[in-house]
This record gives sequence, structure tokens and C-alpha cells, in this order.
Amino acid sequence: GIVLGIESSCDETAVALVTTEREIVSQRIASQIEAHAPYGGVVPEIAARAHAEKLAPMIAEVMDEADLELADLDAIAATAGPGLIGGVMVGLVSAKALAMASDVPLIAINHLEGHALSPRLADASLEFPYALLLVSGGHCQILRVEGVGQYRRLATTIDDALGEAFDKTAKILGLGYPGGPAVEKLALEGDAKAVPLPRPLVGSGEPHFSFAGLKSAVMRAQQSGEHSDADLAASFQQAAIDCLLDRLRVSLDASEPMPALVVAGGVAANAAIRSALEGFAAKHDMRFVAPPMALCTDNAAMIAWAGAERLALGQSDPLDFVARPRWPLDPEAEPVRGAGA
Ligand code: ATP
Ligand code: MG
Ligand code: FE
Repeated sequence: GIVLGIESSCDETAVALVTTEREIVSQRIASQIEAHAPYGGVVPEIAARAHAEKLAPMIAEVMDEADLELADLDAIAATAGPGLIGGVMVGLVSAKALAMASDVPLIAINHLEGHALSPRLADASLEFPYALLLVSGGHCQILRVEGVGQYRRLATTIDDALGEAFDKTAKILGLGYPGGPAVEKLALEGDAKAVPLPRPLVGSGEPHFSFAGLKSAVMRAQQSGEHSDADLAASFQQAAIDCLLDRLRVSLDASEPMPALVVAGGVAANAAIRSALEGFAAKHDMRFVAPPMALCTDNAAMIAWAGAERLALGQSDPLDFVARPRWPLDPEAEPVRGAGA
């Protein structure tokens, strides 16, 4: 089977055709980085408008490249949340219109499920259950992935997501938006031990994350004028890694053993974090799986693949499916202090 995937929940307009045999047949990604850069972050109104302009021609391009008609598709999968609601609605409404016109089933995808299942697109041997560290611009969670649609949240952040902390640190260091890749690059030239920074919640018996205090400490250290930007970047990244590993240890200790540790989401593109996680997995007798960089940050192949996984289970959604600005992967999870989904 073949699935068209559409992603428009943030600042990437993306379209992809993926087969149930894990082949990415064709894909397009249009980043809006330049449109948002002057504002230092994503402006929802600008994002929605850009998605609306770019999406239709991009869909036509991937279909042309694959030499397919809409009626040849087995499903149309679109991100239906969580995210910036204007953009999500542009993608979802487009998918509904195409599905209705061609009588192809619609599959409404949770963007976070796209990230969560992306490692299975890249690696056919990855089976359920697995431990998932989901680290992105809006989320920082540890989940037990038991199957498609079956997620148990073991930990979340009580304030900022890790990607957000990278972006804020980048801003403090004058590196601009988006910040993660810039901080990672600068950190290569710095000394990770140079700046004493806190490791919020490390040592706590509760498994959750907190990054707001770390970001504030980076700000104060920068203002002191005592450190180079490279040392600040490297020390921040090391503090973040120490938090990740400690919080993972607590979460996994409290859960049934899982054979694999999987990382997904935009921050999973960070090579230092990947290598620290690889070491952690080896120490805990777990297999380590990370999707290739291009599948870590927002893309439509992961949305098409989540659609393919649901299609294989015989699932589809009604054409009146409503876009969701908030949509936790584990709706049963207890809310924690100040935390988002
Ligand atoms: P969500 O998936 O939670 O809705 P999002 O879609 O905005 O949020 P992603 O696109 O998955 O998030 O990830 C973007 C985030 O990843 C940004 O915060 C960015 O700074 C971060 N990021 C990207 N590359 C790197 C890197 N090399 N190192 C650290 N962070 C990175
Ligand atoms: Mg993005
Ligand atoms: Fe994302």
C-alpha cells in the first residue's frame, strides 16, 4: 500500500509518499525559517498563511514525481494536532478535501505519534515495546511504547521542553533561531566543565524533567561576562545530557524492562545527545535506535508512516475529524505541576 502524508503543525510544510514496505517514494519539505527569523520564533499567523500557499503545489509535485493519481493511494494521513491550530487546520482540511474527492480513507495523525513511530520507519527490526525519549520543540517525555496508539507516559517536563531550552540558550548567546543546531555546533569548541550550571531535579525520586532553571542559570552566567559563548554552550549541553540520563534511569527503574531505547523528535538530531544515549543503552543492556537526522525534525514521511501503521491495523478516521491544539499521547497520564501534554 501507499500513503500520502501531510505535516503542517509548526513551521515546516511537508508532504511525503511512503509505502507500507517502508519506502519513501517522494517527499518535499519547505521550511519557513526565513519568514520567522526576524521575530526570533514561530509566528502562528505567518505559519498558517505559508502552509496554505505551499501545500497544494507540494502535493502535486510528490504525486507527479511518483507518477500517481489520488485514486492510487491507500490512505491520506495528515497531522491533526497537537500544534499551532491554524497550520494544523490547513493540512487537515486539505487532506479531507483530497480524501473526499478521491474516495481514499483519511487518517488523522497525532504529530507526536509521528515522532514516536518514526524509528520503526527507519528500522524494520524495531518491535514493541520500546522505551521512547521524545525530545522536541514542544515536548520532553519518556514513554513506554506498547503498540500503535498505546503509549504510557513515564515522565514529562514540569516547565520547558528540551528543544525550547536549546532555542532559549541560543537566543541568550545571540545565535538566532532555530537554536538547537547552532548551540550544538558552538558547543564543539567549548569546555563542558567550564561553567557550573544546575542539573534541575537530578537525584529526585520523581522521574520528571525541568529546564527553566537551567536556562536562567545560562542567562546569569552569560551576563557575568566571565565565560566564552562556546564554554556556555558546551556546559549547557552537558547539563542537559546529565539531566536526560538521570531522568531516564529513574523512569526505566520504575518500569517493566524494555529491550530497546529509542530517541525521537528534533533534539534527537543532536550528535552529543545521541552518543550519550547510546552509552546509556549499552550500560543498561538495551538496544539503541535513533532515526536518521532528516526523520528527527519535523517531516511528512513520519506522518505517512504513522498512517501506514494505522492502515495496516484497518484504521481510518471520519471526514469530520476535528483538529486538536492539544492532544497528549497518553491521555491517562496524571497532570504534573505546570506541565503541558
Ligand atoms: P513538537 O514536535 O513538540 O510539536 P516541534 O515540531 O517544533 O515541536 P521538532 O521539529 O520535532 O519540534 O524539533 C524542533 C526542536 O529541535 C527545536 O527546538 C530545535 O532547536 C531542536 N533541535 C533541532 N536540531 C537540534 C540539535 N542538533 N541539537 C539540539 N536541538 C535541536
Ligand atoms: Mg519545526
Ligand atoms: Fe515535531
